[in-house]
Amino acid sequence: MRHAMLIDLDRCVGCKACVSACKEQWDTGPGGARDWVHTYETGTRAGGDLAVTFYPGLCMQCEAHPCTTDCPTGATFADANGVVVVDAGVCIGCGNCISRCPYGARRVDPVKKVVEKCNLCAPYVARGEQPACVATCLADCRVFGDLDDPRSEISRLARERDARPLAVAGIDVRPRNLYAGARERELILAQPMARPPHRSWLTAAWSDVTLPLVRGAVPALGAASIAGGLLVNLRSRADRVRREEGGSGEGAAPPQAAPAGLEGELPAPRPARELPRHPAGLRVLHWFNALSWLVLAVTGAALLSAASFAFAGPRFPAALAALAGGAAALLRLHVWWGLAWATAIVPLFLVFKGSLRHVWEEVRIDRDDLAWLAAKPLAMAGLRRRPLPPQDKYNAGQKLFAMFVLVATATIIASGLVMAFHLGPAPLVSLAILVHQAAIALALAGIAVHFTMAAVIAEERPALRSMFTGRIDLRHAQHHSPKWTSRLGEPPPGAPGAKEED
Ligand code: SF4
Ligand code: SF4
Repeated sequence: MRHAMLIDLDRCVGCKACVSACKEQWDTGPGGARDWVHTYETGTRAGGDLAVTFYPGLCMQCEAHPCTTDCPTGATFADANGVVVVDAGVCIGCGNCISRCPYGARRVDPVKKVVEKCNLCAPYVARGEQPACVATCLADCRVFGDLDDPRSEISRLARERDARPLAVAGIDVRPRNLYAGARERELILAQPMARPPHRSWLTAAWSDVTLPLVRGAVPALGAASIAGGLLVNLRSRADRVRREEGGSGEGAAPPQAAPAGLEGELPAPRPARELPRHPAGLRVLHWFNALSWLVLAVTGAALLSAASFAFAGPRFPAALAALAGGAAALLRLHVWWGLAWATAIVPLFLVFKGSLRHVWEEVRIDRDDLAWLAAKPLAMAGLRRRPLPPQDKYNAGQKLFAMFVLVATATIIASGLVMAFHLGPAPLVSLAILVHQAAIALALAGIAVHFTMAAVIAEERPALRSMFTGRIDLRHAQHHSPKWTSRLGEPPPGAPGAKEED
């Protein structure tokens, strides 16, 4: 089916009843409607050729509909009848589609803050009614119907009146709505009916620069980070084997086997001592944070369904929207989860940590941290054998990651609020998309490194385990966080007063 409208210019009297009917039907905000009637006066009284031409305009239902290609959320699309519609529940009012429409048929409603455009009254047509402008037109100059049905009135009139679209040379969007009358009133008096679709620089920046970077750089960094972690594991294992074979250093002396028959008389090995590291509330918050990142990243990626915005092709957004019960439901899930996360995470974090000052002391970078940051990559690459500068409860990498995530999170929340609640004009919402996605891309790159450090590098696994149990192996803590363990009265092994550990 190809629903369309035919307008007979010879019958139009410029009464604008169609505009009133449209405004009433769709409750469009002040200053505009979904359709319009422009008036052009030509000739002179002296010349005897004074004339008035009316141009009743609306969305031309272009077959190419360029307006849909840069809608980040897929809020605007062609429905099963080929009618280009806007799902107000998913539109964020970014205005990307406006500059892509050659006929100026879209605008952001100043009250609803979403884009308005003619949808040929699709929901009313589905109930068997006529579009409001067709039902109201006093001069009977509008006909609505299916162009694919040769017996429909619109098809018959199109043939009889030799009706044509208001196509403009050089703008190939294949408008479907038809006009008739004195060669379409000489293409509405050769006015520039349309201008070529163009992209805002923000959309161009996202689709041509940032998106390819994100698609390529973030997965590449994640893969490189995990591969690097696995290499570090291999090197550590080779070092350990070498030390054991050389008979020196940690792990060189294999445990003595008990003489036959005396196994039961040897004292059982003492379990490794552990220190409390993360209280239960903080661990729950950490995993809620991790779960929220996952849910928000997946639902957010699925909301980006336009070809120029989608991370993972069109199937993934469609599948997730179907799972959530529609794109609007998916957007609501994303926004409400994000709001719950944003309002819970900071206050709860401060409650569990005690105070902002305490947090600052834990993440403050000192001189040892700077030296550690310079030395750690060399140590991981096997290029440094000397001990690393001593670290506190959290090492410099963890501190940097915490600060980085804090800034990225604040940016993501602020830009997300602008988009979700249309807090500003369309260009600001469009800018918020770019900022939101760039911050997420950077944060995901940081999370890939964090994941590698915590879950891939074997040496760091006690730290990951402590995020589940709340406790950390004493020797691991003494080795990695000697400043912290010293404060707790647990000096490094070998130091005067150090307790002997098994
Ligand atoms: Fe899209 Fe504009 Fe064409 Fe309508 S006239 S389909 S809004 S490009
Ligand atoms: Fe899509 Fe933005 Fe246009 Fe809404 S304003 S339909 S979200 S491009």
